[in-house]
Amino acid sequence: MNRRHSNPITAQTSTNITIAHTVISDMRNDITHATRTKPLRCEVCLTPLTPLDLPQHDNSGHTLCRSFDCKRVLDQKSVMEPTLYKHHLEFQRKLIHQRQEKEDLHRKHIADIKLNERNEDLKIFKDTLASSPRLSKDALQLIPIPSGISTLTQLSEERKKRYIDNLKVVIQKAATYTHASEVPPDQHHGAREKLSNNECSFEKSPALQTICDTMCSMCKGGCCADGKEHAYISPVVIRRQMDANPELQEENILATYISNIPSKTALNACINQTKTGCALPRELRSDICNSYFCGPISSYIKNMSPLETLKPVLAIQRSNHAWNRFDTNKPNRIIGVKIIEPEQTP
Ligand code: SF4
Ligand code: SF4
Ligand SMILES: [Zn+2]
Repeated sequence: MNRRHSNPITAQTSTNITIAHTVISDMRNDITHATRTKPLRCEVCLTPLTPLDLPQHDNSGHTLCRSFDCKRVLDQKSVMEPTLYKHHLEFQRKLIHQRQEKEDLHRKHIADIKLNERNEDLKIFKDTLASSPRLSKDALQLIPIPSGISTLTQLSEERKKRYIDNLKVVIQKAATYTHASEVPPDQHHGAREKLSNNECSFEKSPALQTICDTMCSMCKGGCCADGKEHAYISPVVIRRQMDANPELQEENILATYISNIPSKTALNACINQTKTGCALPRELRSDICNSYFCGPISSYIKNMSPLETLKPVLAIQRSNHAWNRFDTNKPNRIIGVKIIEPEQTP
């Protein structure tokens, strides 16, 4: 048959069938695509799974996110009667959503504070540059710093006892090892390495150390606020003292620490924090105390270490300490601004 003269009706039907096929095929593709692109959701909290959740999902055979709470809820599925589990799931999902909402709000609160502080700091930075033509934007380093606790109180017997009791436990624990190398690593294990890196940077550039010390004396221990009655003294700190002085008895070590307890101490902060700084001699402090620098100062040390010429610093001090920056009831006000020039340091 000559195709050019085929029956128009047949031709029309054939076209319709082709169109119908195309439409169905497109629909199928759309559905497959939708299924493919529709995010998998955690079957407990209904949150879309991220690539980080997927190994968990693959391992469990359930669509489950990484949240421990969701896993805990799902674990009940195999041991609960289905209707009971359904109610349990609904109730727990509601609780999880409430918690997520609270966390989202808190994250937003933190982001807002950071943005607000950043804008305030930048305004001061610009104003400083405008009023000091010798300083340039690229050669001035803005460093926000917190504030140590300024309210001193008479040390209570109760706090003193808690500190001494903790020291006794730590010293006894240290005595159970024969050398500091035997003490299992704790969460501050990396502090010693950090300390030696800082010491190395400061040896190469004493002016860098002076700038950092200047900021820390301006701040007066904003990072010490969490030392409470433990002061970060750990068995490894004590064991090292025992290794260096084998004749030292446990009671001698305890007596040394007790003799350094200040009578007046910062309110709600480390027991050793005083008006003039830490009451403990450096060699009795923990590695974390000797090595710690807050984030902005750590970055400054890291960035300046390889440079020949140090950048002057614009230190902007705020009223809160290092651990209550986002406290809703305590606005983090700017309380001090200082330009610290490297050449002014001795
Ligand atoms: S390291 Fe930071 S928080 Fe700690 S005393 Fe120095 S400036 Fe303050
Ligand atoms: S022991 Fe000294 S350096 Fe360490 S947290 Fe307490 S006051 Fe700060
Ligand atoms: Zn989940």
